[in-house]
Amino acid sequence: MNPLFANLPTTIFETMSGLSRELEAVNLGQGFPDFGWPEDVLDKAADAVRHGWNQYPSMSGLPELREAVAVHYARFQRLDLKPEEVTVTSGATEALAAAILGLVTPGDEVVLFEPAYDAYLPLIRQAGGIAKAVKLTPPDWKITEKALAEAFGPATRLVIFNNPLNPTGTVFSLDQLALIADACVRNDAVAICDEVWEHLVFDGHAQIPLMTLPGMRERTVKIGSAGKIFSLTGWKVGWTCAAPRLTAAIARAHQFLTFTTAPSLQTAVAYGLGKDDAYFTAMREGFARSRARMTDGLGAAGYALLPSDGTYFVSVDLNGSGIALDDMTFCHRAVREAGVAAIPVSSFYASDPVTNVVRLCFAKSDATVDKGLERLAKARLMLG
Ligand code: PMP
Ligand code: GLN
Repeated sequence: MNPLFANLPTTIFETMSGLSRELEAVNLGQGFPDFGWPEDVLDKAADAVRHGWNQYPSMSGLPELREAVAVHYARFQRLDLKPEEVTVTSGATEALAAAILGLVTPGDEVVLFEPAYDAYLPLIRQAGGIAKAVKLTPPDWKITEKALAEAFGPATRLVIFNNPLNPTGTVFSLDQLALIADACVRNDAVAICDEVWEHLVFDGHAQIPLMTLPGMRERTVKIGSAGKIFSLTGWKVGWTCAAPRLTAAIARAHQFLTFTTAPSLQTAVAYGLGKDDAYFTAMREGFARSRARMTDGLGAAGYALLPSDGTYFVSVDLNGSGIALDDMTFCHRAVREAGVAAIPVSSFYASDPVTNVVRLCFAKSDATVDKGLERLAKARLMLG
């Protein structure tokens, strides 16, 4: 086996969901909702399977979806994308792979921010890139000018940034984005901005696309995912948005990764992106209610919460909650002994991890949240 992969553990999401299935635990680990998908989008997909085109669609995506992505971002984020700047991929995961493999030349330095979504580092290494990590730490996971100055250098070609940030739920402010944009412009680096959580932002916070900062329109690859927007994580329909020179590089890699994505799902996503504002508002409000239920229950059970403004996730500080275990031990014992699965945030670091933070997914029905809370209360009593 390729040693780059042989030495990698199975992803923490698969590990925890596997244990959860095996032990019949409540799964608050892997981020997938158990409610919230729009029925009309499902009907559209079913109709497209039955009556539409089921052969290879064009490589860069159905024209109607590329157009719908551009129109959607003009409507919600005032972006000025052309459909030709959109490439449809099989989920954001493939978008990341195509962008990284298409843009990294062996030996290039690639800056990333830890905690980092688990796909970034293996893909950087597969492309021959040299990862330079900026470590973010709780409680505020703040990016500093000093940390950026240490990570960036003359060999920096690419930055991978995730906003809102999985696993912490941080929604980065304009000031924080400006630090990254300045560093990219000064070092002539391209930014891959993973914005899959863009619609899952709460309490009046605003998600600002990195592409809108001065000097960034031509040097940013924006990544999105229908899985998050429509609560359909298994569909794996995603996209990249980037200036033509970057899109051309992404297309070269995409053609030999998946080449294309199921046309029926593309048709349904194109329809869904055009839904009226009421859908997007209600979707966010539904998840905000689950989030409040989860955070209230965690507080009542004696857990200390860290701030989280976006994504499907909230996290707890184990030490602050009176639990003297590291996050990995806590998660393994919680799933086996208390019947609840969670994600240890240390898995999102390649070295020197933060080990006292555990991520919980609240995108669940009231019944699931309540059952999960019951088990987490038990876990705290047993393990605290
Ligand atoms: N990036 C981030 C930050 C994510 O959280 C996820 C999935 N939760 C992905 C990429 C992958 O998205 P997809 O399922 O569309 O491949
Ligand atoms: N992105 C999802 C999460 O953060 C999991 C995706 C996966 O399982 N690969 O939970």
